[in-house]
Amino acid sequence: MIKLEAAALAARIKEEVKAEIDGGVRAALAAVRVGDDPASAVYVRNKIRACEEVGIRSEHHALPESTTTEQLLELITSLNTRDDVDGILTQLPLPAHINETAIIEAMNPLKDVDGFHPVNAGKLAMGRPVFVPCTPAGIIELLDDRGVEIRGANACVVGRSQIVGRPMAQLLLQRDATVTICHSRTRDLPAVTRTADLLVVAIGRAGFIGRDHIKPGATVIDVGMNKVSDADEVRSLFGDEAEKRLEVVAKRGSTLVGDVNPAEAAEVAGMLTPVPGGVGLLTVAMLMKNTLKAAKLRRS
Ligand code: NAP
Repeated sequence: MIKLEAAALAARIKEEVKAEIDGGVRAALAAVRVGDDPASAVYVRNKIRACEEVGIRSEHHALPESTTTEQLLELITSLNTRDDVDGILTQLPLPAHINETAIIEAMNPLKDVDGFHPVNAGKLAMGRPVFVPCTPAGIIELLDDRGVEIRGANACVVGRSQIVGRPMAQLLLQRDATVTICHSRTRDLPAVTRTADLLVVAIGRAGFIGRDHIKPGATVIDVGMNKVSDADEVRSLFGDEAEKRLEVVAKRGSTLVGDVNPAEAAEVAGMLTPVPGGVGLLTVAMLMKNTLKAAKLRRS
């Protein structure tokens, strides 16, 4: 089985963005975060660091947990109108008391570098994408980079979230795959996923997809990012790599695993994205690409 490592591609995408910035394009990203969720803080920090790497100016608006929907709307409105801000990123999930839909819909679609605004989701669904959510866009780049045939493939997307599953299915459809979307109410999930030449999994359940879900030789893209710390679980997920992962658990308290059981997938899949080292790296790189695009579109 081939491991679809994404580090080299992510670096190349960022270098391409950097070359345009160095060539004179000015771009700026405003990252907005509310509350103290540690995972969100790490994600935003990584995005800010990527901006620094490629030369995109960034500003970080870290607001307290007590922020109201109205206060956040005020900030979004001001970022919408500021000429020196090209892209706005609101880190999700927002605290439960904030109306997430209202915040996403308040964003200027031309600054919506995450591609979550209904105008951008609608354009993607119509086959006229402008800003595409970064994770599925990165997956298409990876498949193209590795020469994985999309046209005519039986593609199955497990998960129907606004940020991964749905836009992923739209992108695959646009590239002439025959697409099936699965979710928590799908009957006999393994029977459906086993028909897929190309299986994309984004459900948020550690190691859920096993050998019985995978067609021999299939390309499997694992979007999930879950933490595991139980030693028996680590052994059942990582096979030969288990000892290395247990060392990570001893050092950091947990290790990352996707939604696919990597030990079982290795027995049947043709290709699999690792976690970490796969899809996650591309998400940040594609955010840089979208921000550059926003800057060029607004200034053209
Ligand atoms: P989400 O909004 O929680 O959606 C999960 C989806 O999975 C839902 O559509 C749900 O179905 C479906 N699902 C849940 N359990 C299922 C089951 N047993 N069988 C079939 N479908 C099931 O999740 P998300 O935001 O898309 O994220 C999914 C995972 O990807 C998470 O681990 C997240 O951390 C990770 N992620 C990673 C990146 C990255 O950059 N690598 C980016 C985004 C997300 P229903 O609709 O029926 O409830």
